[in-house]
Amino acid sequence: MQNILVTGGAGYIGSHTVRALLKEGFKPIIIDNLVYGHKYVIKKLGNVEFIEGDIGDSKLIRQIFSRFSIDAIIHFAAYAYVGESCIDPIKYYKNNVFSSINLINEIVNFSKNQDRMIPIVFSSSCATYGIPKTIPITESTPQLPINAYGNTKLIIEKVLSDYGKAYGLSSISFRYFNAAGASSDGLIGEDHNPETHLIPLAIMATSKKSTPLSIYGNDYPTKDGTCIRDYVHVEDLANAHILGLKKLLSSDEKIIEYYNLAMGKGYSVMDIINSVEKVTNLKVNYKIGNRRIGDPSMLVANASKAFVELKWKAKHTNIDTIIKHAYLWHKKLLSKKT
Ligand code: UDP
Repeated sequence: MQNILVTGGAGYIGSHTVRALLKEGFKPIIIDNLVYGHKYVIKKLGNVEFIEGDIGDSKLIRQIFSRFSIDAIIHFAAYAYVGESCIDPIKYYKNNVFSSINLINEIVNFSKNQDRMIPIVFSSSCATYGIPKTIPITESTPQLPINAYGNTKLIIEKVLSDYGKAYGLSSISFRYFNAAGASSDGLIGEDHNPETHLIPLAIMATSKKSTPLSIYGNDYPTKDGTCIRDYVHVEDLANAHILGLKKLLSSDEKIIEYYNLAMGKGYSVMDIINSVEKVTNLKVNYKIGNRRIGDPSMLVANASKAFVELKWKAKHTNIDTIIKHAYLWHKKLLSKKT
């Protein structure tokens, strides 16, 4: 059985990937500082090895490497609030850059005494593209982030590239578009505090008790004036990590690769509201608000590189299904909290 160190495995995409790893017969070892991840998620994952700690803690990383024979790393642990990253960039550079580099340095130092470099799958982001000049976005679209979060992700992509060239470290960076939905069996799902993402907020806004959803601008140059995004089911994202991992583990050649993970289909904020209303049979209470700073009008990507090279195939291609899973999870989450 191969041991996979999963940083941030108590988080949203991380926890779904841990489940996919278990299903595929890998042994995931989670390290999470539980700043944004949840302990209850770890419990739901069953009998998994969990280390509460920080990837910035070199001593702890060394202990993990000497205790477990780690075959590969999937690195999710990061802060991911775009707005916060601009207000408090120190927090983001410290965690997403400084601590990530610490982890990667430890991988390289440890691997030097082994017969092979431990490969890494890295959670990057479409935020590295900034406001693209052309749609759909491909992996060769210029990366010009417009916020601190996007910068931190791009920096780590570059670190991985430089370390790959110099030390032979293999890496695959996945540039996610909008992760959405929840596990199809309802076990785990999205639980951010504060929640800032459209789909959970639109679902919350079906409740009369909730504040209305604010649509961040309806004067964009799109079909209905609201922003368009490319939503991907979180289980499909998780499966892409398995494929990337297998590629790294099975190759004797050094790999430094980047893949967009997207569906190639754009939905406007209004499309999402309509789908939430259809799935829930409830009205979404919304108002038109101001634009949010740094929101590109349209982010839609071409993910054919992942489809062709990794044989990635999304299972949940219908936006209503994605929203249905998010809704079922949301109801469960509410009952847990009340
Ligand atoms: N959005 C919105 N109101 C909200 C949250 C999001 O209108 O309360 C819009 C946002 O402007 C964007 C889309 O919904 O166009 C998706 O936003 P989200 O924060 O979910 O993901 P992002 O695309 O920013 O990563």
